[in-house]
Amino acid sequence: MLGHAGGRCDKCGGEQPTWELIKCPICGQNTCHKCATFAYGRYFCSTLCGQYFFHAEPEDDEKEPDEA
Ligand SMILES: [Zn+2]
Ligand SMILES: [Zn+2]
Repeated sequence: MLGHAGGRCDKCGGEQPTWELIKCPICGQNTCHKCATFAYGRYFCSTLCGQYFFHAEPEDDEKEPDEA
């Protein structure tokens, strides 16, 4: 078993050195550069997480319903 300094991309399963992996700030998945999405100045595991990050707001009492 190797992998003392290795990680695995949660998307494609490819083994990567940990420093090559991006940890998604939203869901915490480890993602390689190939699978990661760059948005808003940082990397995410997917565009969905990027959008979530962009739309995420600090605790807000009033919630606007999604276009009902
Ligand atoms: Zn990958
Ligand atoms: Zn994510």
